[in-house]
Amino acid sequence: MFAYRAAYEDLQEAFGNNIIAYYIHYATHGMQENRSITTVPQAVKAGITVTGLRGQVIARPVPVVITPTEETNQEETNHEETGNPVVIPETPSPEPVPVPSATVCTHQYITKQLENIRAHAPVCEICRYTDEQKQEPCEAADEYIIDTMYHKRKCKGCDRLMDSDKHQYPTNDFKCSVCGYQHVHNYYYFVINNDNKNHIKSCTLCNFGSSEPHNISAPTSYSTMEHKRQCSDCNFYYMEPHTTPGVCECGYSS
Ligand SMILES: [Zn+2]
Ligand SMILES: [Zn+2]
Ligand SMILES: [Zn+2]
Ligand SMILES: [Zn+2]
Ligand SMILES: [Zn+2]
Ligand SMILES: [Zn+2]
Repeated sequence: MFAYRAAYEDLQEAFGNNIIAYYIHYATHGMQENRSITTVPQAVKAGITVTGLRGQVIARPVPVVITPTEETNQEETNHEETGNPVVIPETPSPEPVPVPSATVCTHQYITKQLENIRAHAPVCEICRYTDEQKQEPCEAADEYIIDTMYHKRKCKGCDRLMDSDKHQYPTNDFKCSVCGYQHVHNYYYFVINNDNKNHIKSCTLCNFGSSEPHNISAPTSYSTMEHKRQCSDCNFYYMEPHTTPGVCECGYSS
């Protein structure tokens, strides 16, 4: 910033030793005004002596006795013309300024969602130019995209996901109150605390759940002493001694 201050005398008159003011000026105006001397080497190249706040010399231009390179001479010539708005200085500015392309882009627009804002706008696929004049707030489409667990909606104009939620079954156990999706219960069964009377019948897709008696089938022979009775829905089973004497219900004969 000492270089920036030294390079532009008008700023010295305005800001004096207020270094912060130079930073603000550079950020708000300096770049547009082509005030490109921001480092000590740039200032020295441009033939400017850089001084500190107390007037001490930080850097001064290379004395002429040391043969300057051709490049240095050209740089100096250009800097003397910086006041002319037509001349574009060749000195690279500290922040890369996009060079205007020689060929004008024939924009190929597709509508894209914008970041940081719930809106979409036409964006050029080639040069990424965004037509902000045609920016629109995103709006949820009428149609839901549905799978067995979720309903979701995208924006009418772009790919933005507007809402996504599990199907809701507050009043009807198979029809979603939000999107109308009707599912077929996908039952599964489980036993709590080895309950020998009931199992819980539940659905993997909704909150449906009820207690039902085990569906105990005919016994199967297990050993010379016992047969096994198993629920055909859940994995609950229990052992029973064969009925003796004679032929047991399971087919075992004693
Ligand atoms: Zn374009
Ligand atoms: Zn959108
Ligand atoms: Zn739903
Ligand atoms: Zn269900
Ligand atoms: Zn059962
Ligand atoms: Zn038996």
